[in-house]
Parts: sequence; C-alpha cells; structure tokens
Amino acid sequence: MEELKTRIKEVGTVLPGNVLKVDAFLNHQIDAGLMQRIGQAFAARFADAGITKVWTVESSGIAPAVMTGLALGVPVIFARKHKSLTLNEGRYTAEVYSYTKQVANKITIAQKYVAPDDKVLIIDDFLANGQAVSGLLAIAKQAGVTVAGAGIVIEKTFQPGRSALEKQGIPVVSLAKIKSLANGQVEFAEED
Ligand code: 5GP
Repeated sequence: MEELKTRIKEVGTVLPGNVLKVDAFLNHQIDAGLMQRIGQAFAARFADAGITKVWTVESSGIAPAVMTGLALGVPVIFARKHKSLTLNEGRYTAEVYSYTKQVANKITIAQKYVAPDDKVLIIDDFLANGQAVSGLLAIAKQAGVTVAGAGIVIEKTFQPGRSALEKQGIPVVSLAKIKSLANGQVEFAEED
C-alpha cells in the first residue's frame, strides 16, 4: 500500500533491536483516515472469505482491526492482556511473548463472544516472530473456530513470523513489507 509506505518513509524511525517506531500514525497518535483505508484494504482482500469476526490483541492492533470490522460489517474482539474484574466469566487464554516489551503476557478472550461457527480474520499492527498471532491461533483452536487469515499492517520479512504462521496453514496479507532495518534505514521488500 503506497500511502502506508510513504508515511513510514516520512515519519518512521528505527530503534535498536530491529524495532520500527511509527508512533506518529499507528502506535500512539493514530491517523484515523489512514487506518480507515488500511481497514478497507484488508476487507477487500478478505471480502470472499465469509468472515464473521475480526480478532486482535490490545492495544496497537485495535485501530486497524476496528476499521477492518467496520468495512466488513462484523464485530471486532481485542484479546485483553491484563486481568480485568469485568472479565471473570468463562474465557480462553494463551501465553504470548511480547517482542517489544520482552515479557510474557497472558491474553484472554471471553467465551461468550465466540460462536462455534465463527470465521475469524486476525489483524495486527506488526509481524515479527509471529507470537501475537500464534497466541490468537491457540485461542481459536481451544474455541474450535476457523481462522481465515491474518492481516498485518507492517511485516518485517527478515523475521520468521510469516513462515511460522504459514506452517500453521494461515494465509498472511501484509500492507507494507520491510526487508531490512539495518543501519537505521528502512528498506522495503518487493510487493507480491
Ligand atoms: P510478534 O508477536 O510477531 O513477534 O511481534 C508482533 C508484536 O510486537 C506486534 O503486535 C507489535 O506490537 C510488536 N512489534 C513487533 N515488532 C515491532 C516493531 O518493529 N515496531 C513496533 N512498534 N512494534 C513491534
């Protein structure tokens, strides 16, 4: 997606540990118009997949996930990372190791928002090692629901996330692919 790549070039900065900082439009300040076009792009790619729910993990996945749900006309669920007093009914949980925070989090989805015939589209802001999406896949497995694919705003193709997900049979659609962040420079991969 050219608009997204242009924004990354304009405002993205590279932090140690192969982390791209895009706080200006995705991870802190949110460009709602850009998020809407991102949601429409995912919705177009998965238009024929019979999606009934969009799933993501709080907090940075929520903006693109909501816009995707809006475009597809389906509800959006964000897995919670923190224990909540209001989430004390039956729930599915999985363990996720956070790439940027370097801590393990338990993620949780309430059972009452999951239907056995759900067809889920997973959305996330970044794909690095595939831990966050794999956590949601573990929950989908527990719940017995089908996952149609994963939509990723920014994929770092030099990290193993895509192959980890494709090994589990999950098609991955990403809107910007970065092949290197070496020497503080963002280098995009060719589009497929
Ligand atoms: P994974 O679970 O695929 O290893 O990492 C993806 C998660 O880690 C994303 O949900 C995102 O929050 C965070 N993450 C991974 N790499 C980056 C990055 O380069 N920049 C930012 N801002 N977040 C990242």
